[in-house]
Amino acid sequence: MASTDMQDIGHVQLAAPADGDEIGLRIATFTDLHQWPRGVKEFKARGRVIDFDKEGYSAEKNIELMEHVLERSSPDLVVFTGDILDGRPCKGMAPEKMNEVMMDVLEPVLKRDIPWTYIPGNHDDDDSPWTRQDLLKIYQLPLCVSAKATTFNHTMTIGRGTEPSATDSVRLWLFDSGTNSPDPKLRYTTFSDASVRGYTELSESGKLAPSATGLAFFHIPLPEYENLDPLVGKNGLFEAALKGGKVPFPFNFRPMSDLVEVLGKDRVVGCSKLNSGIFEAFRKQGNILATFCGHDHHSDFVARRDNIYLCYNRCGSYTPPSDWEGAGGPLKFDHGSRIIHFKGADQLWTWNCTFKQDSEDLFHLKH
Ligand SMILES: [Zn+2]
Repeated sequence: MASTDMQDIGHVQLAAPADGDEIGLRIATFTDLHQWPRGVKEFKARGRVIDFDKEGYSAEKNIELMEHVLERSSPDLVVFTGDILDGRPCKGMAPEKMNEVMMDVLEPVLKRDIPWTYIPGNHDDDDSPWTRQDLLKIYQLPLCVSAKATTFNHTMTIGRGTEPSATDSVRLWLFDSGTNSPDPKLRYTTFSDASVRGYTELSESGKLAPSATGLAFFHIPLPEYENLDPLVGKNGLFEAALKGGKVPFPFNFRPMSDLVEVLGKDRVVGCSKLNSGIFEAFRKQGNILATFCGHDHHSDFVARRDNIYLCYNRCGSYTPPSDWEGAGGPLKFDHGSRIIHFKGADQLWTWNCTFKQDSEDLFHLKH
């Protein structure tokens, strides 16, 4: 029998809300922080040395944004959706640097006693002194709700009660969406077959505890994110690729690039060229209301395909990878955090929290 890779780690009881009358629960996502090790303010990329101070990049500002978001949105849980660390600037450093940088990111979360979890992106172990397997040790840091997980692919219910319930618990599914592929044509290795099988088997097992809704989190968008019209937010990847010289001739020249946009062929995403089949599995099982990814810093949309909301989280980084070391141009929106608010069975809301607005692009995710 083929192996599976999906752990059910049970139920996580969240603390009672401080004000006593808050209904439901709130998740703050942080994605693509590309947090830099303290003191390093240069990055060699694209054939040049980037000076953070001269070009306006700052790793400290990532943390300031987190402080702001946590203060304004008072989440019950934080989910980090990959590229939180970036291995490249840590090359040649001790492997312990991993925990040190992660603890910098966790500081605003831990000082508020907020539980959290994490999944890796393609850069968390990119050229790093630690391995992808080492990233699992992050789950052993304080207040991590995934402490029992021995794989990135796992599921749990969260709720206020001691037991999971069909009315007020939310099921989270966390996935490793893969690393940079050794074959550049494929781009990323995508979800493992074992995780897709594991998700399906567990969903069909009848052993899962009840929940009101299911949400999936991973880093790299699925191929099914392509060719969708945003219900809210932006798909900014084509514009960024055009600026960054990644769109091939002749589509990189106007009026060809305009034509691409008119035809809607600009609704591209930075997915793997492999299709793991996870979307089809979600569709078939019908237990996922919405999925949340990061990766394409210039995109932040919510769209829908086959009754599943496909969402991007808002990029929260101020370090050079945030705008592809300048090549992608500035993001078309303020850096921030996607907040998810569950208020009951058909009451799931999402919005973005930024320095300027507490709730931008408020959207109701209906069953
Ligand atoms: Zn990223």
